[in-house]
Amino acid sequence: MNLSDKIRNIPDFPKEGILFKDITPLLRDKEALKEAIEKMADMFRDYDIDYVVGIEARGFLVGTPLAIELDKGFIPIRKPGKLPHKVLKKSYELEYGKNEIEIHKDAVNKGDKILLVDDLLATGGTTLAATEMVEELGGEVVGCAFLLELDALDGREVLKDYEVKSLLIE
Ligand code: 5GP
Repeated sequence: MNLSDKIRNIPDFPKEGILFKDITPLLRDKEALKEAIEKMADMFRDYDIDYVVGIEARGFLVGTPLAIELDKGFIPIRKPGKLPHKVLKKSYELEYGKNEIEIHKDAVNKGDKILLVDDLLATGGTTLAATEMVEELGGEVVGCAFLLELDALDGREVLKDYEVKSLLIE
């Protein structure tokens, strides 16, 4: 199956001038979903991984089934105020303004080998902030997995210290 066909371009979402990649047609198609998760797992099956860490919200949709496929547990990184226990917070710059993400302080322990997952790699800012949080808690980022990478935005350069693998590159 051509999985790229299952990703829809939505012009001017969430703001004018942005072409949004909508992964919901891929999620809705049981065969496409299964194939995408299996192939993402194949990219990292040979890696020594303790946990999969996914970034809210679409990183949960891809990260949790990926964790199951790799036979690992899942750790969420969330938007502020959502996680109930003690958190580590990180601010990072966006093209316009700032964003914040949080992780439970006790979710990652010293030496844990982490696979970071999100649906899409654009500028790399979100994932870089996530790597910094994992490392601050003593974890080691062994890779970053994406369903789709937007090549023109050069997120791979921002994440050059890490093993970055994307199932689809546009
Ligand atoms: P970055 O930090 O790499 O610039 O942006 C990636 C983050 O923004 C990811 O969490 C991703 O979910 C979200 N994102 C940015 N643009 C898009 C898009 O066009 N489609 C989807 N599905 N997510 C996007």
